[in-house]
Parts: sequence; structure tokens; C-alpha cells
Amino acid sequence: MKTLTVICPCYNEKDNVEPFYQEVLKNEEFFSGKGVELKFLFVDDGSHDGTLDEIKKLSSADKRVHYLSFSRNFGKEAAMYAGLEHAGSEFVVIMDVDLQDPPHLLPEMFSYLEEGYDSVSTRRVNRKGEPPIRSFFARMFYGIMKKISRTEIVDGARDYRLMTRQVADAILSMGEYNRFTKGIYGWVGFKTKWLEYENVERAKGETKWSFWKLLVYSIEGITAFSTAPLSIAAFVGALFCLLAFAMIIFIIVRKLIFDDPVSGWPSLVCIILMTSGVQFFCTGILGQYLAKTYLEVKRRPIYLIREEA
Ligand code: UDP
Ligand code: MG
Repeated sequence: MKTLTVICPCYNEKDNVEPFYQEVLKNEEFFSGKGVELKFLFVDDGSHDGTLDEIKKLSSADKRVHYLSFSRNFGKEAAMYAGLEHAGSEFVVIMDVDLQDPPHLLPEMFSYLEEGYDSVSTRRVNRKGEPPIRSFFARMFYGIMKKISRTEIVDGARDYRLMTRQVADAILSMGEYNRFTKGIYGWVGFKTKWLEYENVERAKGETKWSFWKLLVYSIEGITAFSTAPLSIAAFVGALFCLLAFAMIIFIIVRKLIFDDPVSGWPSLVCIILMTSGVQFFCTGILGQYLAKTYLEVKRRPIYLIREEA
């Protein structure tokens, strides 16, 4: 008998745990027919609304339900990493507990593994039910990433992915502290089948991602999977040198031919403001990379477990 572990990061999801468990179990018959046993691994990411109690209830009633509980909220990335590390089964799937990753896709996803794929990923084809401004920035982010990163990062890709042990181990081998799973998935490669589905709205509760959190996360994605912004300073620097050179020639010639008196300190102020602005901007970019490197060098643990079963 092989095992499929359903890894499920939960942060304040008290009302979603039980319905999610029931929904996944609807596939039980399919999987036992294939000789695959289902196992649950809930990762309680420092919830403070009784989510852990809900999970414990399930765990005491069903021995297939396991859990990890973090010492505080470490974020979904850390929860997914911990889940993969503790799953120890032949197959693993990462799913949101809010039913936005439809469990009824599991049999179809599994059939592709049987066909010889190493992993099956999902992407939503639309962003129905999402604020338009959020969708706009998300599109812009993926557009920029496509241009500046060599790692394939797919627009609308979910973290919902069924994979073999081999792929899970590959993901675990990327032990970086600043984690950006969408990029990590692309980076490890392997034979991946993409499934598409219409966006589903979250079952209960609210999204944990504010606009600000998403913005910070997108910077994470850029610094983790592209060094292109670092070239901006060099590029703009070279451009300004060229421009300055042309101006010098222009001013010398004008002086020689027309003997023009000195004028134009307003334009000088503009130029100083502009160049110093660009300099600060570039220093800021450098700072971003330095900050990420600083955190990486510290080698802090990605998560800390307080309780497990
Ligand atoms: N989540 C988590 N830790 C966090 C934030 C979210 O484990 O700090 C979990 C959350 O419980 C859910 C999944 O990650 O199972 C996706 O979160 P959410 O639905 O808020 O994100 P969205 O679907 O809106 O992108
Ligand atoms: Mg969600």
C-alpha cells in the first residue's frame, strides 16, 4: 500500500478544517481502489482561533490525521516546507484548507502521475471574485517576472500541486530562508502537467493576504528569482554618462560659437534632483538584495514546532 499525504497549511481556519477533511475524503474510494492510502497532515501556522482544537478533534477520531503546530505564525511558505519535510510518503499534495483548491480534482491529478508525470500543478484561469486592483497588480507582477527571470513562474499558478517523493525532496533541497514556492516549483523542473480550473471563492473566513503583504511577497519573488534589478544601476549609470558627455560637447560648442553667458540654474537643480533620485533608487534595490542575503546568512530555522502528532 502506498500513501498520499495531504499537506494543509492552516492559519485561523477553525470553520474550514472539518468541511475540508470531509471533502477530501470523498475521494477515498478512488484512492483505495488504486492501492493508495490517504493521510492528512495539517500544519497549524500559529493560529489563535481554536483551529488546533478542531484538528485535534479530527486526529483523535481518525488515526490518518496528523498535525504539526508551530510556535507562532511563520507564514504559509514555512508551513508548506514543514509539511513536505514531515510527510514521508510516496505522494504528497499541498492544498489550502479554504476549499479554493478543489479536492474533486485529485483523481484526475493522480491519473497523470500514473501516466508518468512527476508532478501535477494547477492554475486558475480567471480571478473571479478578486478585487480588480489586486488582479491588475498580480498580472503586472507576472508580466515583469516573465521578462526578468529565467525561472518559469506561471500566472495564476496555485500552490496546489500533487507530486512524487522525488519532486518533494527536490523542493526540500532548496532550504532557503526567503521562500517563494511558485518560483521554487519552476526552478526544480521535472515533468509537470498543468491543470486549469475556474477560480473558486474561499469557503469560510477571509483571505490572509492584504494588499501590502502581497506587495512584500512579490518583492520576495523578484529578489529570490532574478538579479535583473541589480543591473538597473549599471544601465542608468552608463546612460547618464553618455548624456553628460553629449551635454559637455554641446555647452563647449555653444560657448565657442555664440559666447553665451552662464545661465540656467533651475535646470541644474532639476538635473541634481533627478540623478540623486536615481541613485537613491538604485541604492534601495541594492539594499533589498543585501537584506535578503543578511537573513539568508543567519541560517535561522524556517519554522519551529511546538506540538505534533
Ligand atoms: N496560511 C497559512 N499561514 C499564513 C497565511 C495563510 O498557513 O500566514 C494558509 C491559509 O490558512 C490557507 C492558505 O494558506 O489554507 C491560503 O491562504 P489564503 O486563503 O488566505 O490565501 P489566498 O487563497 O487568498 O491567496
Ligand atoms: Mg484562499
